[in-house]
Amino acid sequence: MIDSGQRDAGTTIYRAEWVLPVSSDPVRDGAVAVSGGSIKAAGPAPDIIKSFPAATLVDFHHAIILPGFVNCHSHFEYSVFRGFLDNLNFGRWLLEFIDFRSRLSAEDYAISSRLGASESVAAGITTVAESMYSGQSVYALKEAGLRAVAFQETFGMDDSRLSETIAALEVRLDELDEQQDQLLEIGIFPHATYTVSAAMYRAVAEMARRRKKKLATHLAESKAESAYIRSGSGVLAMDLREKVGWENLMREPFGVTPVKYLQQWDVYGPDFLAVHCVQVGSPDVEVLAKGGVAIAHCPKSNAKLGCGIAPLHSFLEAGIRVGLGTDSPASSNVMDMFGEMRTAIFLHRGAQRDAAVLDAAECVQIATLGGARALGMDDRIGSLEPGKQADLIAVDMEHSHFTPIYNPYSALVYGASQEDVFFVMVAGRPLYEKKVLLMMDEEKISDQAKAVKEKLWG
Ligand SMILES: [Zn+2]
Repeated sequence: MIDSGQRDAGTTIYRAEWVLPVSSDPVRDGAVAVSGGSIKAAGPAPDIIKSFPAATLVDFHHAIILPGFVNCHSHFEYSVFRGFLDNLNFGRWLLEFIDFRSRLSAEDYAISSRLGASESVAAGITTVAESMYSGQSVYALKEAGLRAVAFQETFGMDDSRLSETIAALEVRLDELDEQQDQLLEIGIFPHATYTVSAAMYRAVAEMARRRKKKLATHLAESKAESAYIRSGSGVLAMDLREKVGWENLMREPFGVTPVKYLQQWDVYGPDFLAVHCVQVGSPDVEVLAKGGVAIAHCPKSNAKLGCGIAPLHSFLEAGIRVGLGTDSPASSNVMDMFGEMRTAIFLHRGAQRDAAVLDAAECVQIATLGGARALGMDDRIGSLEPGKQADLIAVDMEHSHFTPIYNPYSALVYGASQEDVFFVMVAGRPLYEKKVLLMMDEEKISDQAKAVKEKLWG
């Protein structure tokens, strides 16, 4: 008994009516044992309690414990922009957005990033693939205690300045790399096919290989992007280039899709995350599958900006790793993975007129383990299995509109929202308990964000 007590010291058992390990079947009256930041066991509560007799027991009762969500695409820095450009198509939205973006100071970006980070924790998101413009997200991610790949964005169409841009990026990455730790990894994010030249994509891909970094890009998001790459026309070819001073640079119609265009610049590989992939046909899906790339599927943002619906079923059939992304609050308004899962299942079933397309369990799988695979982190996170990191959340079903529960996956996807999350843990450290943020001052962040909005827009 003494040995057993010593062995269990520091172990906490979290028990709930349902535990969804995701990698295996749901467990009724389940529990997860956590110690030293990792999961020791997950399964039926009576078995777990018997195995760890000296552990502390936390009983969540009528709740569902599942792995924390992996948000495969976000921009925390744009959280203060939520809801101010709600009715524009992608190209026009981008042009307006560029104007507003330039009005934010470094401090404004820091506040905006904290707003996004605090919202994410409270929404049950434990891992984030964040793309950074100012770089302020890094500090917000660390403050919040989130796990993340923070991608530094880079832009450049003028090849006469290529070496300068690349040198500046190296310096920036050196600085950011100093922030890396067990939870935070730095990646590189060449912004998109219409803001980054072919030569720059090549140079950045070479840099990513050399520095052993993950690479991500916005790809095949809008019809405007397809028009720009295929025929050198449209709002991204004309208006955008004039706005940012690239109108005198030579450009040519490339005559191909954005996916095939990028294929030529040696960027694809298993450490490449393609964000969106809406404007793709079957040959593009083949190229992406062959390239071994992963895709961040952002159904709500794509629908809201009038971009369309990405062929998720084709990605999955081709064996492509797919995760779910909320994109920034500037385009999707709230970073709620429940809403994202719900949007995905309704859009895909509606568009295909087939209720056999996706199911609730698949949605939860994509939002957790699928995202972990897309980011190459499934050896550590994405499911509740012994040896994995203790990144888990608990969702309150007591006040849910989803009573009774026949299937816990259905309850989550069709009935729950971010407000139902009441407990969030990353690497064994609680970040959110009884709906209170432990690492950040929610009220202060909210007041500061409102002040940024008032200062800039009145
Ligand atoms: Zn984005």
